Amino acid sequence: MMEEFDIEFVKLKNGIHQFEYQLNKSFFDFFKNQEVNNAIISVKAVLNKFDNLLQVDIEGTGNIEMTCDRCLSDVSYPVENHFKSIYHLNSIEEKIDEAQEVNLDVYYLSGSQFKINISESIYQSFITEIPMVKRCDDIDGKECNPDMLDKIDSLEETNSDKNEIDPRWEELKKLLNNKEK
Ligand SMILES: [Zn+2]
Repeated sequence: MMEEFDIEFVKLKNGIHQFEYQLNKSFFDFFKNQEVNNAIISVKAVLNKFDNLLQVDIEGTGNIEMTCDRCLSDVSYPVENHFKSIYHLNSIEEKIDEAQEVNLDVYYLSGSQFKINISESIYQSFITEIPMVKRCDDIDGKECNPDMLDKIDSLEETNSDKNEIDPRWEELKKLLNNKEK
């Protein structure tokens, strides 16, 4: 867990508290994410503390840079999200176990816990925004780099040329031809 995302709620008075964070590549590196080449994201967390409950509203906006699956150029994706987490304080053990499986955004903390860490939920919120297939043309007005596409095409052609003269293929062809005779 990244320490700068710790919130020691026991030290906070009831009411509203604000926290701000800037995320960059190192944030995604921490979670061993290899898809994100670069990131500039501002995150604002508004925590409302009650006697037995913490309500955390998190908003993030910015850009994530990734590699295009087709032409290997950098693609910058705008990201924007907003989510809420609820932390029930002083919960009893049984409730903690059953509840955490049902809903990931609701947490039950025991009386001995004095802080929460919001880095994992922030990370998850952005990861779900990353598309499975990343392409330049997902972004308005951007197209794949034509020079790179040509290079990739010619590489693929050389690879298929190689297959044709692969000696194993030649052997196989001979065998097939012999059978036909
Ligand atoms: Zn591309």
